[in-house]
Amino acid sequence: MQLDELLEIQSLDTSLDQLKYELEKVEDSLGLTDMRVSQTKIESELKDLEIKMSSQRDELLRIESNVKEINQKIKTFNDRMFGSETYASRDLEHMNAEVESLKSQISLLEDREIEIIEILEPFEEDVKEKTAAMSALNESIKNTESQVDSHIQEINARIEIIKQDIALKREKISPDLLGKYDLLRGHNKQVAISKVVNSRCGSCHLNLSASEVSVLKHLNDDSELLLCEQCGCILVH
Ligand SMILES: [Zn+2]
Repeated sequence: MQLDELLEIQSLDTSLDQLKYELEKVEDSLGLTDMRVSQTKIESELKDLEIKMSSQRDELLRIESNVKEINQKIKTFNDRMFGSETYASRDLEHMNAEVESLKSQISLLEDREIEIIEILEPFEEDVKEKTAAMSALNESIKNTESQVDSHIQEINARIEIIKQDIALKREKISPDLLGKYDLLRGHNKQVAISKVVNSRCGSCHLNLSASEVSVLKHLNDDSELLLCEQCGCILVH
């Protein structure tokens, strides 16, 4: 009977479908998908930190340039006060007061500078930790990608062998029966043929009546087929 051969084809087709499914899910099953999600998350966290830090650093630069400017002014006053020219004491007092005022501006700016450095410290610590996590993650991703590649090659090799096996077995089946089998499997790759075990359909486990089982036992010709009422597959005794 060709139906027994067809049963073997069905079993190979099922293995093939499973392998194709495994192929689709290989990145998930090896954890690569999750790793990539974590990678994107850390990347965006690092970007956020960079934005927060850059506004603080800009302010630091502004302060530094302010301090430089003020120091320049102080130097100009000092050069005048301590230079060769002589000034009235009222003018000297005035210049001295200016210098004192400029120095206190610098002191305020330096206080702010310290504040900013303290704000930046935990951010920098965070960046350090996240960068280390990122580089460990990148390493894992690289390793897993090569595992995925070899897994895919392995599955594809198994798929090839099964495909050849199926092709050989299909040659032994009549075109008419193959046509029916392919039609029943359809696009959804359903089970098209199954063996009846303990009076039940091997695919959907529907209980068959005694008369159906008896009909099945007495089918001799592959052109006479009994289909399961529930799942529609070809029943084989
Ligand atoms: Zn069934």
